[in-house]
Amino acid sequence: MRKTIVVGGGAAGMFASVFAAQMGDEVICLEQNEKLGKKLYITGKGRCNFTNAGTMEELFDSIMSNSKFMYSAFYGYNNFDVMDFFEQSGVEYKVERGNRVFPESDHAWDVIDALHEKMRRLGVRIRLNTKVLRLHIDNNQCDGVFMEDEGQKEAFLGADRVIVATGGFSYQTTGSTGDGYRFAKEAGLAVTDLYPSLVPMNTREDYVKELQGLSLRNVSLSIYDEQKMLYSDFGEMLFTHFGITGPLVLTASAMVGPIIKKKAVQGYIDLKPALSEEKLDERILRDFEEGRNKQFKNVIGGLYPAKLTPVMIRLSGINPEKKVNEISREERKNLVAVTKRFPMTITGLRDFKEAIITKGGVSVREVNPKTMESKKIKGLYFAGEVLDVDALTGGFNLQVAWSTAYAAALGE
Ligand SMILES: Cc1cc2nc3c(=O)[nH]c(=O)nc-3n(C[C@H](O)[C@H](O)[C@H](O)COP(=O)(O)OP(=O)(O)OC[C@H]3O[C@@H](n4cnc5c(N)ncnc54)[C@H](O)[C@@H]3O)c2cc1C
Repeated sequence: MRKTIVVGGGAAGMFASVFAAQMGDEVICLEQNEKLGKKLYITGKGRCNFTNAGTMEELFDSIMSNSKFMYSAFYGYNNFDVMDFFEQSGVEYKVERGNRVFPESDHAWDVIDALHEKMRRLGVRIRLNTKVLRLHIDNNQCDGVFMEDEGQKEAFLGADRVIVATGGFSYQTTGSTGDGYRFAKEAGLAVTDLYPSLVPMNTREDYVKELQGLSLRNVSLSIYDEQKMLYSDFGEMLFTHFGITGPLVLTASAMVGPIIKKKAVQGYIDLKPALSEEKLDERILRDFEEGRNKQFKNVIGGLYPAKLTPVMIRLSGINPEKKVNEISREERKNLVAVTKRFPMTITGLRDFKEAIITKGGVSVREVNPKTMESKKIKGLYFAGEVLDVDALTGGFNLQVAWSTAYAAALGE
């Protein structure tokens, strides 16, 4: 009987354990935490958006790095296979906005319990509080691991193959401490640069921080490196004590994060994307005519959320006490300009501990996409976030974990 060690009892590790055991392997899953699936517990704000019910094309479009590498894995085990798997394991699911799939119960622990129960039934040996220290590689063949248990005694565990499913480098308190990257490097494999991704951003201006807690819907966010537009999209975002976050910002970080990590860039919010500059000017003129003898600060309120109004007054450069019929055309144009291009300097990304995912990882050039086995080291497999594959929010990152884990489990 083939003996398989799975390093890591997160999403990919549990899934790989289930399918390797189903294949008839003797499986031992080693997890450094006191329980399985610690990160899964916090996914989807505790509700676990475990996949996405979109088309195959949408799955590929969601992958930010190395989507071609995912071809075999996605076709081998797709999002509908995942939904069937959990349904057959007793997890009813529902599909929400953007095809996001959640357990009907809204509890991530149902996903973890289902996987745990499958592992137990299939006879997977689970060793908690067991940290893998390094891999044992002899003659380009991985045949076991050195591990440390609670008693901190180092021990060797031999196997026919090892699946590394140690996760990324984000939210390290959940156990993803980046060990898999080290294992890969020690095995002589390339690991690409690591970046926090799906992560909030820092901004420079004090007025942005003043807006903390304010969330904006139906706005568009554009990011520029000097004259070059790096990103532009429409949706929701949120101001915080350090800068900006929310769906638009997280997606932007996945697309242009590596540039923002290296240099400050300009961000602009179009607060009225449905109106052209001319239409917005007409709207402001109408407001001004209705309140001819009122002060600017008392007329402008209808245009923005209350928290934003004092900041917009300052950015417009118009004296708040000024009667609106005294406001010049030039001043009004400036108000239009800052409404269509609310400026911010984006100075960087937040840290890994706030990132939903790690961009970068074990180079996919080193890995057979059909089996997830290292091309150089026989018996060494990778699955999940440890690979240089990252996706947008929406259940896609967990789909990557499930599909790569399935491929690794079946890998010959
Ligand atoms: C706040 C948050 C919310 C998220 N929400 C979603 C969501 O709703 N939908 C979605 O698709 N994705 C979501 N993600 C991303 C998703 O959680 C990851 O893509 C996924 O968990 C990766 O699975 P993995 O098994 O590769 O890694 P992990 O789940 O991180 O598991 C790795 C495991 O390996 C263990 N380990 C590491 N090193 C060792 C070692 N040396 N020895 C033994 N064990 C070790 C760790 O303790 C850990 O349990 C979210 C992420 C975060 C941080």
